[in-house]
Amino acid sequence: MTAQTTPPQPTPSGRRALIVGSGISGLAAALTLHRAGWEPVIVERAPGRRTGGYFVRLFGPGHSSLERLGLLDDLPNRQSPGARGYEVGPDGRLRPGLTFPDQAEGTPLRMLLRSDIERVLYEAVDGKVEIRYGVGPTAITQNRHEATVTLTDGTVEKADLVIGADGIHSTVRSLVFGPEDLYRKDFDHVVAACELDGELPGLADGDVAVASAPGRSAWLNTYTDGHPPVAFLLYRTPWPAAETRREPVETLREVFGDFGGALVPAVLDAMAKSESLVFDQVSQIRINRWSQGRVVLLGDSAWCMTLYSGQGSGMGVAGAEMLADALTEHDGIPAALGAWEKQVRPHITKSQKQALRMQHFFMPVNRFGYHARRGLIRTMSSPVGGKLAKAIMR
Ligand SMILES: Cc1cc2nc3c(=O)[nH]c(=O)nc-3n(C[C@H](O)[C@H](O)[C@H](O)COP(=O)(O)OP(=O)(O)OC[C@H]3O[C@@H](n4cnc5c(N)ncnc54)[C@H](O)[C@@H]3O)c2cc1C
Repeated sequence: MTAQTTPPQPTPSGRRALIVGSGISGLAAALTLHRAGWEPVIVERAPGRRTGGYFVRLFGPGHSSLERLGLLDDLPNRQSPGARGYEVGPDGRLRPGLTFPDQAEGTPLRMLLRSDIERVLYEAVDGKVEIRYGVGPTAITQNRHEATVTLTDGTVEKADLVIGADGIHSTVRSLVFGPEDLYRKDFDHVVAACELDGELPGLADGDVAVASAPGRSAWLNTYTDGHPPVAFLLYRTPWPAAETRREPVETLREVFGDFGGALVPAVLDAMAKSESLVFDQVSQIRINRWSQGRVVLLGDSAWCMTLYSGQGSGMGVAGAEMLADALTEHDGIPAALGAWEKQVRPHITKSQKQALRMQHFFMPVNRFGYHARRGLIRTMSSPVGGKLAKAIMR
């Protein structure tokens, strides 16, 4: 059972926030600010809602925040109780592997899709918050009283606060804080992720499988609820920025052509048909201040931690909730933003460091890492090792 809270009825405060980006962080900010009595308006560059996506784990602060917001019961848990985990050997054979634990960082751990969290947040703001699709900012100025944002359609918006929730390649950050290169710390990794149409050979519904080799890995999830499988591929390259400018599937076929038995070629065929393929380098955003005056960054635009942290979606929601609380508790926007950052930054610093360690679990970077990972999986797949691993994750 989860404790559901009744959403408080907003008391209009007369304060207006322009939120750039309708991903998880932007929608969570719109919801929490609306409940705090603000008038949020979202501008989103894409022509409509982003559907599809990849699997995410939800635990820790994000799980607790969605519970407090009363949205947890609307989210599925897509890991079926009898799920079997496999490691795919170099010969394509399936060997026993791991499934994700059911607890982490003191909360239950849910397996979801990015689009599950997006959906519950979208439904919670639908009809209450204006969302304008197909527009983004081209200029942002501010004075002591307000911020002014010029949009790509030529319109001008005035707001008390501008929230840049526009992802790792944030335009708000570039306009107000400076070029992306100053803040992006690249791993030498590329990720490709999408929802697949059709089945994956050799896997029953609910199974999960991981194929790994030095510098390459493939993570495959299937579902018992009728949802199509999802997958992400990771590989190591000295030139990730150059790779991601190439044609994605052709590039992925070159890297993964001989890999993962029949499973990975099936993923590549499905990726070739996908209209929502994510293909990007893996990077963190490290910036020593998340706000300037009336402009604040939130989510991946402020602190992208990478998929290895497992906290990006969750901290987008928790960070938004804490932001609305700080704006309610403190007089004046700079004071509120300063207090908010002080509260959120320790979580982010910890998760960014954790991501640096976890990258080796997601993809062994060399032969030593590959054999170390295989040894770890064998130990954790054993009954005693499994119990120990669960105890550590709690
Ligand atoms: C393969 C993979 C696995 C992951 N696994 C996990 C996991 O297990 N757990 C977890 O918590 N997180 C995970 N993450 C990370 C998580 O998905 C992200 O951290 C999270 O979705 C970021 O949300 P966001 O709203 O901050 O940014 P985004 O989702 O990037 O949203 C930004 C939005 O802003 C819009 N936008 C961009 N530029 C502009 C502009 N100029 N004007 C207007 N709008 C604009 C975009 O169109 C988009 O809608 C994973 C990520 C990947 C790629």
